[in-house]
Amino acid sequence: MSTTDMIRFENVKKIYTGLDSKSADIVALHDVNLSIQKGEFVFVLGHSGAGKSTFLKLILREEKATEGRVFVNGRDLSRIRPREIPYLRRGLGVVFQDFRLIPSMTAYENVAFAMRVTNIPERQIKRRVPYVLSLVGLSGKAHSLPQELSGGEQQRIALARALVHSPPIIIADEPTGNIDPELSIEIMELLQAINSLGTTIVVVTHEHELAARFKKRTIMIDHGEVVDDGFAPHGREAAYL
Ligand code: ADP
Ligand code: MG
Repeated sequence: MSTTDMIRFENVKKIYTGLDSKSADIVALHDVNLSIQKGEFVFVLGHSGAGKSTFLKLILREEKATEGRVFVNGRDLSRIRPREIPYLRRGLGVVFQDFRLIPSMTAYENVAFAMRVTNIPERQIKRRVPYVLSLVGLSGKAHSLPQELSGGEQQRIALARALVHSPPIIIADEPTGNIDPELSIEIMELLQAINSLGTTIVVVTHEHELAARFKKRTIMIDHGEVVDDGFAPHGREAAYL
Protein backbone atom coordinates (compact mmCIF):
# COMPACT_ATOMS: atom_id res chain seq x y z
CA MET A 1 0.00 0.00 0.00
CA SER A 2 1.42 3.35 -1.02
CA THR A 3 1.90 5.85 1.78
CA THR A 4 -0.16 8.45 -0.03
CA ASP A 5 -3.26 6.22 -0.30
CA MET A 6 -6.07 7.87 1.65
CA ILE A 7 -8.65 5.25 0.71
CA ARG A 8 -7.96 1.79 -0.60
CA PHE A 9 -10.34 -1.08 -1.47
CA GLU A 10 -8.89 -4.55 -2.03
CA ASN A 11 -11.25 -7.17 -3.50
CA VAL A 12 -14.14 -5.74 -1.53
CA LYS A 13 -17.48 -7.49 -1.56
CA LYS A 14 -20.51 -6.36 0.41
CA ILE A 15 -23.51 -8.61 0.80
CA TYR A 16 -26.59 -7.52 2.73
CA THR A 17 -28.00 -10.70 4.20
CA GLY A 18 -31.73 -11.22 3.91
CA LEU A 19 -33.43 -10.94 7.31
CA ASP A 20 -35.54 -14.07 6.82
CA SER A 21 -35.81 -17.05 4.52
CA LYS A 22 -38.07 -15.12 2.13
CA SER A 23 -35.73 -12.19 1.48
CA ALA A 24 -32.74 -12.90 -0.71
CA ASP A 25 -29.19 -11.74 -0.05
CA ILE A 26 -28.22 -8.60 -1.96
CA VAL A 27 -24.76 -8.19 -3.43
CA ALA A 28 -24.29 -4.42 -3.12
CA LEU A 29 -20.59 -4.33 -4.07
CA HIS A 30 -18.61 -6.96 -5.90
CA ASP A 31 -14.83 -7.24 -6.21
CA VAL A 32 -14.07 -3.53 -5.86
CA ASN A 33 -10.39 -2.61 -6.20
CA LEU A 34 -9.32 1.02 -6.15
CA SER A 35 -7.22 3.55 -4.35
CA ILE A 36 -7.68 7.27 -3.84
CA GLN A 37 -4.53 9.28 -3.18
CA LYS A 38 -3.92 12.23 -0.92
CA GLY A 39 -5.08 15.44 -2.58
CA GLU A 40 -7.26 13.81 -5.24
CA PHE A 41 -10.72 15.04 -6.24
CA VAL A 42 -12.83 12.06 -7.26
CA PHE A 43 -16.39 11.56 -8.41
CA VAL A 44 -18.14 8.27 -7.69
CA LEU A 45 -20.86 8.07 -10.29
CA GLY A 46 -23.70 5.59 -10.65
CA HIS A 47 -27.45 5.09 -10.93
CA SER A 48 -29.69 4.73 -7.93
CA GLY A 49 -29.05 1.32 -6.34
CA ALA A 50 -25.61 0.97 -7.94
CA GLY A 51 -23.86 0.73 -4.55
CA LYS A 52 -22.61 4.31 -4.01
CA SER A 53 -23.91 4.76 -0.46
CA THR A 54 -22.65 1.29 0.45
CA PHE A 55 -19.21 2.38 -0.76
CA LEU A 56 -19.38 5.40 1.60
CA LYS A 57 -20.74 3.37 4.52
CA LEU A 58 -17.76 1.02 4.24
CA ILE A 59 -15.39 4.01 4.37
CA LEU A 60 -17.19 5.43 7.42
CA ARG A 61 -17.30 1.94 8.96
CA GLU A 62 -21.07 2.14 9.25
CA GLU A 63 -20.96 -1.21 7.43
CA LYS A 64 -18.26 -3.89 7.36
CA ALA A 65 -16.99 -5.53 4.18
CA THR A 66 -18.18 -9.11 3.76
CA GLU A 67 -14.94 -9.96 1.95
CA GLY A 68 -11.76 -8.07 1.12
CA ARG A 69 -10.23 -5.12 2.93
CA VAL A 70 -10.90 -1.40 3.22
CA PHE A 71 -8.15 0.98 4.33
CA VAL A 72 -8.77 4.59 5.32
CA ASN A 73 -5.93 6.89 6.36
CA GLY A 74 -3.70 3.82 6.59
CA ARG A 75 -6.05 1.93 8.93
CA ASP A 76 -7.40 -1.51 8.06
CA LEU A 77 -11.09 -1.14 8.91
CA SER A 78 -11.57 -4.89 9.36
CA ARG A 79 -9.15 -4.72 12.31
CA ILE A 80 -10.15 -1.42 13.87
CA ARG A 81 -11.48 -1.59 17.45
CA PRO A 82 -14.95 -0.23 18.14
CA ARG A 83 -13.57 2.48 20.42
CA GLU A 84 -11.29 3.69 17.60
CA ILE A 85 -14.19 4.29 15.21
CA PRO A 86 -14.96 7.82 16.50
CA TYR A 87 -11.34 8.80 15.78
CA LEU A 88 -11.58 7.33 12.29
CA ARG A 89 -14.74 9.39 11.66
CA ARG A 90 -13.17 12.58 12.97
CA GLY A 91 -10.71 12.33 10.10
CA LEU A 92 -13.59 12.17 7.62
CA GLY A 93 -15.69 15.26 6.98
CA VAL A 94 -19.07 14.12 5.69
CA VAL A 95 -21.64 16.21 3.82
CA PHE A 96 -25.05 14.57 3.48
CA GLN A 97 -27.64 15.14 0.80
CA ASP A 98 -30.25 16.18 3.39
CA PHE A 99 -27.78 18.49 5.24
CA ARG A 100 -28.61 16.99 8.70
CA LEU A 101 -28.54 20.36 10.47
CA ILE A 102 -30.15 20.80 13.89
CA PRO A 103 -33.22 23.00 13.19
CA SER A 104 -33.24 24.76 16.58
CA MET A 105 -29.60 25.86 16.29
CA THR A 106 -28.18 28.79 14.33
CA ALA A 107 -25.56 28.31 11.63
CA TYR A 108 -22.89 29.19 14.20
CA GLU A 109 -24.30 26.79 16.79
CA ASN A 110 -24.60 23.92 14.31
CA VAL A 111 -20.91 24.21 13.50
CA ALA A 112 -19.86 24.86 17.12
CA PHE A 113 -21.84 21.81 18.28
CA ALA A 114 -19.65 19.51 16.17
CA MET A 115 -16.65 20.85 18.09
CA ARG A 116 -18.30 20.80 21.54
CA VAL A 117 -19.09 17.08 21.33
CA THR A 118 -15.35 16.43 21.09
CA ASN A 119 -14.59 18.55 24.18
CA ILE A 120 -12.65 21.24 22.36
CA PRO A 121 -12.10 24.32 24.59
CA GLU A 122 -14.62 27.13 24.09
CA ARG A 123 -11.99 29.74 23.17
CA GLN A 124 -10.78 27.49 20.33
CA ILE A 125 -14.39 27.10 19.13
CA LYS A 126 -14.82 30.89 19.15
CA ARG A 127 -11.84 31.23 16.82
CA ARG A 128 -12.54 28.28 14.55
CA VAL A 129 -16.26 28.60 13.82
CA PRO A 130 -16.11 32.12 12.30
CA TYR A 131 -13.15 30.99 10.21
CA VAL A 132 -14.90 27.97 8.67
CA LEU A 133 -18.07 30.01 8.12
CA SER A 134 -15.98 32.56 6.22
CA LEU A 135 -14.42 29.77 4.13
CA VAL A 136 -17.88 28.84 2.86
CA GLY A 137 -18.90 32.49 2.43
CA LEU A 138 -21.49 32.53 5.20
CA SER A 139 -20.03 34.94 7.76
CA GLY A 140 -23.09 37.16 7.40
CA LYS A 141 -25.51 34.34 8.23
CA ALA A 142 -23.90 33.03 11.41
CA HIS A 143 -26.96 33.82 13.51
CA SER A 144 -29.61 32.55 11.12
CA LEU A 145 -31.55 29.36 11.75
CA PRO A 146 -31.50 26.69 9.02
CA GLN A 147 -35.15 27.45 8.14
CA GLU A 148 -34.16 31.08 7.38
CA LEU A 149 -31.54 29.94 4.86
CA SER A 150 -31.76 28.73 1.27
CA GLY A 151 -30.95 25.11 0.38
CA GLY A 152 -27.56 26.17 -0.98
CA GLU A 153 -26.77 28.09 2.21
CA GLN A 154 -27.79 25.14 4.38
CA GLN A 155 -25.53 22.91 2.31
CA ARG A 156 -22.66 25.35 2.89
CA ILE A 157 -23.22 25.18 6.66
CA ALA A 158 -23.09 21.41 6.41
CA LEU A 159 -19.80 21.82 4.55
CA ALA A 160 -18.47 24.26 7.21
CA ARG A 161 -19.35 21.67 9.85
CA ALA A 162 -17.52 18.97 7.87
CA LEU A 163 -14.43 21.21 7.75
CA VAL A 164 -14.34 22.02 11.43
CA HIS A 165 -11.81 19.36 12.47
CA SER A 166 -9.64 19.99 9.35
CA PRO A 167 -10.20 16.43 8.11
CA PRO A 168 -7.77 15.11 5.49
CA ILE A 169 -10.76 13.71 3.57
CA ILE A 170 -14.15 15.25 2.75
CA ILE A 171 -16.87 12.90 1.57
CA ALA A 172 -20.06 14.25 0.05
CA ASP A 173 -23.02 11.94 -0.65
CA GLU A 174 -25.18 13.50 -3.38
CA PRO A 175 -24.33 17.04 -2.16
CA THR A 176 -26.29 18.63 -4.98
CA GLY A 177 -29.34 16.38 -4.68
CA ASN A 178 -31.48 18.97 -2.89
CA ILE A 179 -30.29 22.24 -4.40
CA ASP A 180 -30.81 23.83 -7.79
CA PRO A 181 -28.28 23.58 -10.66
CA GLU A 182 -26.58 27.00 -10.22
CA LEU A 183 -26.05 26.39 -6.53
CA SER A 184 -24.74 22.92 -7.38
CA ILE A 185 -21.98 24.52 -9.43
CA GLU A 186 -21.24 26.89 -6.53
CA ILE A 187 -20.91 24.10 -3.99
CA MET A 188 -18.71 22.10 -6.37
CA GLU A 189 -16.46 25.14 -6.89
CA LEU A 190 -16.21 25.48 -3.13
CA LEU A 191 -15.18 21.82 -2.88
CA GLN A 192 -12.57 22.44 -5.59
CA ALA A 193 -11.17 25.38 -3.62
CA ILE A 194 -10.94 23.22 -0.49
CA ASN A 195 -9.27 20.51 -2.59
CA SER A 196 -6.69 23.01 -3.83
CA LEU A 197 -5.67 23.53 -0.17
CA GLY A 198 -4.76 19.82 -0.01
CA THR A 199 -7.92 18.07 1.21
CA THR A 200 -8.88 14.85 -0.56
CA ILE A 201 -12.46 15.09 -1.87
CA VAL A 202 -14.85 12.27 -2.78
CA VAL A 203 -18.17 13.33 -4.30
CA VAL A 204 -20.85 10.70 -4.80
CA THR A 205 -23.48 11.57 -7.38
CA HIS A 206 -25.86 10.11 -9.93
CA GLU A 207 -25.59 13.30 -12.04
CA HIS A 208 -23.52 12.53 -15.13
CA GLU A 209 -23.56 16.19 -16.22
CA LEU A 210 -22.01 17.36 -12.96
CA ALA A 211 -19.18 14.84 -13.11
CA ALA A 212 -18.54 15.57 -16.79
CA ARG A 213 -18.44 19.34 -16.25
CA PHE A 214 -15.60 19.26 -13.72
CA LYS A 215 -13.37 16.84 -15.65
CA LYS A 216 -12.09 15.02 -12.58
CA ARG A 217 -11.31 11.36 -12.08
CA THR A 218 -14.61 9.52 -12.20
CA ILE A 219 -15.15 6.07 -10.73
CA MET A 220 -18.30 4.64 -12.30
CA ILE A 221 -20.21 1.99 -10.35
CA ASP A 222 -22.90 -0.15 -11.95
CA HIS A 223 -24.68 -3.00 -10.18
CA GLY A 224 -22.03 -3.05 -7.47
CA GLU A 225 -19.04 -3.16 -9.82
CA VAL A 226 -16.54 -0.53 -10.88
CA VAL A 227 -17.11 -0.40 -14.63
CA ASP A 228 -14.95 2.63 -15.40
CA ASP A 229 -12.30 4.68 -13.63
CA GLY A 230 -10.57 7.52 -15.43
CA PHE A 231 -10.35 11.13 -16.50
CA ALA A 232 -11.39 11.12 -20.13
CA PRO A 233 -14.95 12.06 -21.01
CA HIS A 234 -16.28 8.60 -21.57
CA GLY A 235 -19.47 6.94 -22.63
CA ARG A 236 -22.66 8.76 -21.83
CA GLU A 237 -21.05 11.78 -20.17
CA ALA A 238 -19.31 12.69 -23.38
CA ALA A 239 -22.71 13.50 -24.85
CA TYR A 240 -23.11 16.40 -22.41
CA LEU A 241 -19.84 18.14 -23.24
P1 ADP B 1 -26.92 3.86 -4.20
O1 ADP B 1 -26.43 4.71 -3.07
O2 ADP B 1 -26.00 3.82 -5.38
O3 ADP B 1 -28.31 4.21 -4.61
P2 ADP B 1 -26.90 1.68 -2.24
O4 ADP B 1 -25.51 1.43 -1.85
O5 ADP B 1 -27.76 2.44 -1.30
O6 ADP B 1 -26.95 2.32 -3.70
O7 ADP B 1 -27.61 0.27 -2.49
C1 ADP B 1 -27.03 -0.76 -3.27
C2 ADP B 1 -27.93 -2.01 -3.19
O8 ADP B 1 -27.91 -2.53 -1.85
C3 ADP B 1 -29.39 -1.75 -3.53
O9 ADP B 1 -29.89 -2.90 -4.16
C4 ADP B 1 -30.02 -1.56 -2.17
O10 ADP B 1 -31.37 -1.90 -2.18
C5 ADP B 1 -29.22 -2.52 -1.30
N1 ADP B 1 -29.12 -2.10 0.10
C6 ADP B 1 -28.58 -0.92 0.55
N2 ADP B 1 -28.61 -0.88 1.89
C7 ADP B 1 -29.16 -2.04 2.32
C8 ADP B 1 -29.45 -2.62 3.60
N3 ADP B 1 -29.16 -1.98 4.74
N4 ADP B 1 -30.04 -3.84 3.63
C9 ADP B 1 -30.33 -4.51 2.50
N5 ADP B 1 -30.07 -4.04 1.26
C10 ADP B 1 -29.49 -2.83 1.16
MG1 MG C 1 -27.21 6.47 -2.19
